[in-house]
Amino acid sequence: MLSSSEEIKNKLDIKDVIGQYVKLQKSGANYRALCPFHKEKTPSFFVSPSRQIWHCFGCGEGGDIFSFLMKIENIEFKEALKILAQKAGVKLAYENPQIRSEKQRLVDINKETSEFFEENLWKNKEVVDYLIKRGLKEETIKEFHLGWASDEWRSLSGFLIKKGFNAKDIVASGLSISKNADIYDRFRSRIMFPIEDYSQNIVGFTGRIFQGKAPLKTIMDIEKIGKYINSPQTLIFDKSKILYGLSKSKNYLRSEGNTLLVEGQTDFLSAWQSGIKNIVATSGTALTSYQLKILKRYNDTLVLGFDMDEAGEKAAERSIDLALSKEFNVKILRLPGEKDLADYLVSKEKKESIKDLISNAEAIMDFYFARAQNIGDKTNIDGKKAIASYFLPKVKKLINVLDKSFWINKLSRFINISEQSLEDELNRLLEEVDRENAVDENESLYQFPTSQLQSRIDGIAERIISFLIKTPSLKKEVFEYEEYFPENFQKILEVIKNISSKKDLNIENLKKVNLPESLINQINQLALRADYETELLEKFQVSLDDELKKELRELKRECTKKRLEKIEREIQLAEKNGEKKMLKDLIAEFNKLSKKLLD
Ligand SMILES: [Zn+2]
Repeated sequence: MLSSSEEIKNKLDIKDVIGQYVKLQKSGANYRALCPFHKEKTPSFFVSPSRQIWHCFGCGEGGDIFSFLMKIENIEFKEALKILAQKAGVKLAYENPQIRSEKQRLVDINKETSEFFEENLWKNKEVVDYLIKRGLKEETIKEFHLGWASDEWRSLSGFLIKKGFNAKDIVASGLSISKNADIYDRFRSRIMFPIEDYSQNIVGFTGRIFQGKAPLKTIMDIEKIGKYINSPQTLIFDKSKILYGLSKSKNYLRSEGNTLLVEGQTDFLSAWQSGIKNIVATSGTALTSYQLKILKRYNDTLVLGFDMDEAGEKAAERSIDLALSKEFNVKILRLPGEKDLADYLVSKEKKESIKDLISNAEAIMDFYFARAQNIGDKTNIDGKKAIASYFLPKVKKLINVLDKSFWINKLSRFINISEQSLEDELNRLLEEVDRENAVDENESLYQFPTSQLQSRIDGIAERIISFLIKTPSLKKEVFEYEEYFPENFQKILEVIKNISSKKDLNIENLKKVNLPESLINQINQLALRADYETELLEKFQVSLDDELKKELRELKRECTKKRLEKIEREIQLAEKNGEKKMLKDLIAEFNKLSKKLLD
């Protein structure tokens, strides 16, 4: 019987799946396009309909429809499988609800909750009226499933319990808080904005306080309880990784070629309903490297649509610096009359269309330079110093040398200080350790450990070791093949030789033995993969034994092939140099090894 993924592959044409994201052009039996995963001017990204694979000869990425979707949508295999199964009309193997992953249960809880809040909202005219008065259209409120969390302590918690979810999961979802063996609602008296991940699962919420006709709280009270609160970090929600609205706007980001970044749901929704679709919002946090990497997949121009008054700028500065260091073109949206975006969009005195304003957005360096000019009096030395010490750190963030030199020159002429002196000062700044940046560099986009870039033999070895981690009793079978494992797996095999259960590889236990960090990373990664593989084996009802045997045979084959290739090269060399004795030995060895391939 075919596995679900094979069945999906048979039903879908890779050309259609990929063609939805990149413009494909026929090229013989294949199609080619500009690679969506690296910058290039001539297309080296190929799609083969007959083999149902894709490969980029520029950056080395490649794979099947699943890996393509995973990479371009930034999702895991399971999600790609789900999306493509739906597209292909393939029903995935039945999942027993009792063994559904915790993640899935949290997704279910969030979905039920969103429906619950949404229903509540439409029962509360006062809240709906308020939203409409604030300028939101009814269709927008519905499209984004806004909701209402009432001012009761157990309204949602009670509802979820009645729906059959257990209290532990409800608390794990962050929607309820447990206290003294009881649980109560985290969000009360709030307008609720559900937050979706890339595959449109609701994974968390932002709640905005709304008191309605209830006695007005003092400002201090509101500060204490928070005007806006978000779901806490959970297994499925991390506000530093999520961008509000991306699940809806991602296709527009690609086609428009720039991204309007706003702060908060209200600005997002106002812009969305007035026709701005290339937009995402952060929820009360500075942009992270992770979010920027996601945005970079779509385009590299970021238009900031938030307040740049003194207070707003401080908050925005970190985002801007980070975006510049990731080589984004950063621009800033200037609204006439210093209004904020939501107010501007509902105001009657709109002079220009918002689309024009976005396309005419001012480059961030122009904005900074204009501001620098007002920082001090350029006719005296203190003023010059103030201007330079405001502006040079901005220049420092620029990656491109020509950009740097351009702005140094401009500053030099403005404050009448030599370029050389400014450059010296800039170099001094560059030497200062930028701790924040150092942290950001380490924060890499989480990817599942099936890199498309690794060699086939490494991939097989990883898979086998992950089976072994899952079931150490398979040691005997696996170590019969020890000689076929590539060099970089020898150390981890040594470690696994001495374990008797997967638990022995827990972080705590690993810390007890003195292992190099790179080895610990490898173990962690493979232990994680072991979980994943187990899940897949269960899902597709494949036996671990069969799969292991198959992969061991593959490993031996691949390794033997590699050795044969090496001998082949040596034979050619020996022939060239006329070394007859060596040639004879090599050929004998070659024949012996070739037989192994046939075993
Ligand atoms: Zn590429």
